[in-house]
Amino acid sequence: MKITYSIIAPIYNEIDNLPELYRRVKEVMDSNGEAWELILVDDGSTDGSTEKIRELAAKDKTVRPVIFARNFGHQIAITAGWDYARGDAVVIIDADLQDPPEVILDLAKKWREGYEVVYAVRGEREGETWFKKFTAAAFYRLIYSITDVKIPVDTGDFRLMDRKVVNVLKQMQERHRFPRGMSAWVGFKQIGVTYNRAARHAGVTKYPFKKMFRLAINAITGFSYFPLQVATFFGFVSAGISILAIPVVAALRLAGSHFFEGQTTTLVSVLFLGGVQLISLGILGEYVGRLYDEAKGRPLYIVREAPED
Ligand code: UDP
Ligand code: MG
Repeated sequence: MKITYSIIAPIYNEIDNLPELYRRVKEVMDSNGEAWELILVDDGSTDGSTEKIRELAAKDKTVRPVIFARNFGHQIAITAGWDYARGDAVVIIDADLQDPPEVILDLAKKWREGYEVVYAVRGEREGETWFKKFTAAAFYRLIYSITDVKIPVDTGDFRLMDRKVVNVLKQMQERHRFPRGMSAWVGFKQIGVTYNRAARHAGVTKYPFKKMFRLAINAITGFSYFPLQVATFFGFVSAGISILAIPVVAALRLAGSHFFEGQTTTLVSVLFLGGVQLISLGILGEYVGRLYDEAKGRPLYIVREAPED
């Protein structure tokens, strides 16, 4: 049977959300009347979500389980979803029901109008801490201002993409991925649809600050050289200051001034330069480390169980 919609949900310890996710996606998609499939990518869950996914798949053939050998991360789980999706339109949705499945129909409407990427823009956000909202808002704006592709702000991974777009994304085998950046990078006809982001149905966020920070670094290094350019900029500024300072200091000493005598000035400038150099080295390291990861060419993920068909 020809599948029109593939719905991909990455699952990491979402046992209490799975039945409700399935129920709501089924209700929405059945009402639409076109063939669909729900790809549940188990990203190394340890709370029994895996068994729950198998159970759903055994009962209903529209559920296709992809079970990872361990936790590979949200972005990689989405990637596996792209690889297994068979639909003409592919939708990525969070498993915690923060992205209401009903919105899929709004996305599908725009797709039918001819748009190839329809991303869902977060209007109101319910049930999230001010810290999460603040860091998320800052994150989207920072990424927007320094990356080379214009990644829409206040937009997560919740989106619908045409088969053409997914086929291009499948060829992008980068390891440290930022799917929303990748889907902006490919071009095609894109449009946003605003929705209200609900509170989590059950469970807690799987994105502590550390993971959000890593995601931000991946987004920045994946889509710009900005940090390297900042390092170059600081290099020029401190070199410039020293070129100006050397003749001034020399002239003052020759004139008998004791203004620059002593260890404090030496210490301060050594510490400053040392700091700038170490930070620059760290930035370089981020890029070199990524090069190394790419060079190893390991598979992006390891699947323990793939869908049978
Ligand atoms: N997720 C995943 N692997 C991870 C972390 C998260 O597959 O290592 C999934 C998670 O189960 C959920 C989605 O990614 O379906 C978004 O995660 P979460 O709701 O915790 O993020 P938040 O909405 O708090 O940013
Ligand atoms: Mg969530």
